[in-house]
Amino acid sequence: GADISAKNVDALSSSFPLCMQHLHRSLRRDAHLKHFGRLQYTLFLKGIGLNLEECLIFWRTSFHKITDDTFNKEYRYNVRHSYGDVGGDSNRRGGGYSPFSCQKILTEHPPGPGEAHGCPYRHFNLENLTALLQQVGIADRSVLQGVKEDKEAQKFHMACNRVFEHVHKNEIKRAKDDGILTSAQLETIVHPNEYFKRSYLLKN
Ligand code: SF4
Repeated sequence: GADISAKNVDALSSSFPLCMQHLHRSLRRDAHLKHFGRLQYTLFLKGIGLNLEECLIFWRTSFHKITDDTFNKEYRYNVRHSYGDVGGDSNRRGGGYSPFSCQKILTEHPPGPGEAHGCPYRHFNLENLTALLQQVGIADRSVLQGVKEDKEAQKFHMACNRVFEHVHKNEIKRAKDDGILTSAQLETIVHPNEYFKRSYLLKN
């Protein structure tokens, strides 16, 4: 089975959609993320199966410039709250918050300066989006051109799915040839956790 643990998040992040890769890269660069970035990323990590204990280890080790005391005072509670470990009865009964869908990420709380949450296909300008795609290894001109057209038409999901199909083209072909993947299973992805699940299944 999958080893979904704090120390494996770096390796797993190659199966993350661009929104979460951007959060991960920003976190590694700054050893910090602002509130909405932490929330979006924590809930995604919860959705891929990182348990609360591992999630706390992940944030504590990632925020390596601060003391334990600061971490415990300022950040620990919110992570526990996201998992339903603390908070009101309904939060606890419900197991905390649900991971955000693309729809929510695309439409609520657009990122401001210095914030890394949101959807890069929507919230980045074309130049920065292209640069980010190239940094994560997407150099194919026709894919980048397709993303540009999707973005101009405000079809952000289409851009994300286009990149998914490009990144996984060998695995998709093999799975189709083996008859273990039908076109119906390649319907448009509309949730970051679905992106991860499909990527992970195809690669493993
Ligand atoms: Fe993330 Fe959804 Fe945007 Fe893809 S379309 S980058 S999964 S928010």
